Amino acid sequence: MSEDPAVYQVIPGTATVGFDAERVRRDFPILHQQVNGHPLVYLDNAATTQKPESVIQAMVDYYRRDNANVHRGAHALSDRATGAFEGARRKVANFLNAPDARQILWTRGTSEAINLVAASWGRSQLQPGDRILVSAMEHHSNIVPWQMVAAERGATVEAIPVDTTGTLDLQALQGMLDARVRMVAVGHVSNALGTINPVAEIARMAHAAGALVFVDGAQAIAHWPVDVQALDCDFYSFSAHKLFGPTGIGVLYGRRTVLEAMPPYQGGGEMIESVSFAGTTYNQLPYKFEAGTPDIAGAVGLGAAIDYVNSLDREGAARHEEALLVYAQKKAQAVSGLTLVGTAHHKTGVMSFNLDGVHPADLGTLLDQQGVAVRTGNHCAQPIMDQYRIPGTVRASFSFYNTFDDVDRLFAALEKARQFLQ
Ligand code: PLP
Repeated sequence: MSEDPAVYQVIPGTATVGFDAERVRRDFPILHQQVNGHPLVYLDNAATTQKPESVIQAMVDYYRRDNANVHRGAHALSDRATGAFEGARRKVANFLNAPDARQILWTRGTSEAINLVAASWGRSQLQPGDRILVSAMEHHSNIVPWQMVAAERGATVEAIPVDTTGTLDLQALQGMLDARVRMVAVGHVSNALGTINPVAEIARMAHAAGALVFVDGAQAIAHWPVDVQALDCDFYSFSAHKLFGPTGIGVLYGRRTVLEAMPPYQGGGEMIESVSFAGTTYNQLPYKFEAGTPDIAGAVGLGAAIDYVNSLDREGAARHEEALLVYAQKKAQAVSGLTLVGTAHHKTGVMSFNLDGVHPADLGTLLDQQGVAVRTGNHCAQPIMDQYRIPGTVRASFSFYNTFDDVDRLFAALEKARQFLQ
């Protein structure tokens, strides 16, 4: 990210040239409310994004008109539900530029996608002494599932170092790679720091050493177009709720040959070809990994969210988000006693910080009283907080529907909170 707002043609306090955030905000009904007597300023987008009217309506319409179970029924409603469900899968495949919709598996979210690969690939492939590398700034979801399978298989999970700015040390990664490394699992964007990791380069390095690459895309997917073929990763995951879609559904993309070699993750209906007590055979991709009735309305909602995002000027939206971050970080530098946590050159969406002598949780409460919603705590990234020797941060996270006025309101509320605490 450039440090220079001029690059993004920002006129602070008004708008980013070429992107109309005020117009886009009108699509999100939840943003237009008072909280604790103040107009809501929603800056917790890294935790979950808000939903446009079109997503809410698509899910309501599905339940009002089309609801039925998928793949099994010989009736019109089931045909419609199946069409909508599989149509959503194709939308995801196009959105990620996946070669084939059969490489898109539905999960409950990013966490389940990582657990699926750790359990299925990990249990069937890992040998004692094998190594899994994750970055030191990972979300717990991209650490713990690997630790669980590593403990079971006698493998190890090791952290790729991160420097004081929150930048991954690629030289250290190069030094760690050897033939025992079987998986390199990294976040595309850190939810705690906002760092953008160079995942295409990491994939090149890991593949040269014979390892697979899992990219946790939870924090990247809302910010710019992702192309899994260009990244050349083996797995990519995201959660619909961080892409303006519903909670309870997410996606695992996998390289076809790798997915085909993996055993099922869970057993049940849909994932089988035939069942008998003499032996059961499994279904093809993607159904092999989708036991039980799926979240059909969730898939419909995610499909609508993708349609919505595709209808936007994505380049303009990304420029606007970057401009907001640059503007906010500039303002932060002028606040005495404020320390930014995570100052990597390549960042998106997240400004984490602490105020001297103030616990993040207290600050969060005082901001909420002024209608400003932020996240406080360790952001499910305890190892990187431990590295910085802090219990947590206050995190303001931005989306394209945020405005410069939102940033101004955040800093005005911070000033008031500070006066209250002194
Ligand atoms: N990975 C990252 C980087 C995240 O930010 C999150 C959620 O905050 C997750 C994984 C887990 O996502 P979910 O809770 O939707 O499974």
